[in-house]
Amino acid sequence: MADFSVTLPSGATWTPTFVQKINEDTCIGCGRCFRVCPRGVLELVGLDEEGEHVALAGDDDEDDEYEKKVMTIAHQELCIGCTACARICPKKCYTHAAAPG
Ligand code: SF4
Ligand code: SF4
Repeated sequence: MADFSVTLPSGATWTPTFVQKINEDTCIGCGRCFRVCPRGVLELVGLDEEGEHVALAGDDDEDDEYEKKVMTIAHQELCIGCTACARICPKKCYTHAAAPG
């Protein structure tokens, strides 16, 4: 089966690739991807010693409940496959894939 693709006004074919995975080992929690995502797909969380995700309080209170911050995919179903997140990520954390057509 061919991948899902669209025909642009120019006549060119474009195949969106949708967010699949963010590498938590390489992510530095910089938030750049969050700021460029137009669809509210992403969410910054804490990563504790056991590798579990911890919700951030959002009040900038620094505490010791997590080792570092990492970006996560909170709403994968909202992704439109623009790949803006992958293009701005300085650590190449993203894996994207086309959808079945
Ligand atoms: S591909 Fe686009 S819509 Fe999907 S998560 Fe990345 S920036 Fe958001
Ligand atoms: S841009 Fe890359 S390194 Fe920065 S928070 Fe997003 S995934 Fe992590």
